[in-house]
Amino acid sequence: MPEIQPEVQPAARPRRARTMSLSRQLIAGVLLTELLLASALLVVLVLYTQRLLLSAFDSMLQERAMATAALVRYSEKKPFQLVFDATLQPPSPNRLHPDFYRVQETGGPVIAADWPAGLPPATSRTPTVSTWHGVHYRSLRLTQLPVLDTEENLPGPAPKLTVSYASPMLSIEQRVLDAAIFAGAAGLLLLAATGLLTIWGIRRGLAPLRRLAGQAAEISALNWEFRPPPAARDTAELAPLIAALESMLSRLHQSFLRQREFLGNAAHELKTPVAIMKSTLQSLLQRPRDNQAYRLGLEQSLEDLERLQLLLDRMLRLERIEQAAESGAASRLPEVSLAAGCAAALERLQELAQARQIETKLVVKQDALVRAEGDDLELIWTNLIENAVKYSPSGSRVEIRVEAAGGEARISVEDEGPGIAAADLPRIFDRFYRGDPSRNRGTGGFGLGLAIVKSLVEAYRGKIRVESRRPAGLRFIVELPAHALPEIVAAPA
Ligand code: ADP
Repeated sequence: MPEIQPEVQPAARPRRARTMSLSRQLIAGVLLTELLLASALLVVLVLYTQRLLLSAFDSMLQERAMATAALVRYSEKKPFQLVFDATLQPPSPNRLHPDFYRVQETGGPVIAADWPAGLPPATSRTPTVSTWHGVHYRSLRLTQLPVLDTEENLPGPAPKLTVSYASPMLSIEQRVLDAAIFAGAAGLLLLAATGLLTIWGIRRGLAPLRRLAGQAAEISALNWEFRPPPAARDTAELAPLIAALESMLSRLHQSFLRQREFLGNAAHELKTPVAIMKSTLQSLLQRPRDNQAYRLGLEQSLEDLERLQLLLDRMLRLERIEQAAESGAASRLPEVSLAAGCAAALERLQELAQARQIETKLVVKQDALVRAEGDDLELIWTNLIENAVKYSPSGSRVEIRVEAAGGEARISVEDEGPGIAAADLPRIFDRFYRGDPSRNRGTGGFGLGLAIVKSLVEAYRGKIRVESRRPAGLRFIVELPAHALPEIVAAPA
């Protein structure tokens, strides 16, 4: 039979997410801004230069027109006629593109004209631009100019002159172009210089961030030491990031240590019942026994298994509570009455209290509604009341008080038992903490009850604390966000 080769699919290459470079963005931003500013400056500069040159050009145009008018004089012989001496006309500055003029007696004949047919006539005193043979000419027309030459016994009033004058704008255009090239080159040079300075500055400024990232990358479960570079600590923008990283790391480290301790303690707790069970079963197998002995051995093993199951239940419960707290599911929960939860827990523990001859009392000053799973709250009160009953001497009292004010409820459980040494009080909520130093099976609990209580209270955004009572006993105080109910619920005794 031919062997069928499985079809090998080429492994999909992980797509690399496009990274965004902060420094490139900053550099591009700075350069773009500069480019825009330099362009705007160039335009302003060119327009300003053009205006200055045009105004100087117009003055020159006017002076030339008036100088042209000054060349008009009367003929030597009678009858006196106006004549124009073209030989005295100053040469045009541009030989290839000469100036043009036209002199006319106002309302009379043309005296002299050097004005090409293709160039439109000048019409006003304000200079206008027209094109002739591809060259821009600026022209103006001055009217009512006097004839400077005088003769005696002239008939009639003194004649007036109208002079049109046109000059090519090539020189202005060239100078404006020169100014634009100069300003543009200066702008580009400035842009290049500031671009280089910006790149250098940004690279230098971001160096502490790179070193910080390098330091952060070194952190692992084996190395919790975070030593941010001093330059990063001294940078105003990085200081808050460092503080946040340090506090996050310290919290992570604490929780890592707690998890490790929990694991160690759990293993320790599991080891003892498993070892006992093993030795019980081994001794049963060593030699044949009667039914009674087998039954006893199996019953003992079952008892150990039940204890193991209880421990596993508690550990799983703790895990579930922490997960629920992280998912923030509390807002979708129903509102439950605190007084009702406490009463139910007390009811459940009545038998134990009676057996230990403990008097219990529930005082409800003001009931309140809490958004929570009813079972969770009941578990809190059950654990606290059970401890109070368990650790108190017979004949003593356990009191539970429910109060509420201003969006917060306060529930206290107090007993008259032996209490706990002041030095041990802060550790009472630690997982697997047990006041009794002999961690034997006889003590009953696993030291997980109060840890579960604390996790539950915190999952509902509440607080729990414990204080010693005088002359003896403990008081556990739980504070939870709640809505106080308007009426006072009757307190069951
Ligand atoms: P356990 O299951 O062992 O009771 P807990 O977490 O409920 O675990 O309690 C931890 C330890 O705190 C107990 O072993 C006990 O020493 C001490 N403790 C708790 N409640 C009280 C109390 N009301 N009075 C005296 N000691 C208490």
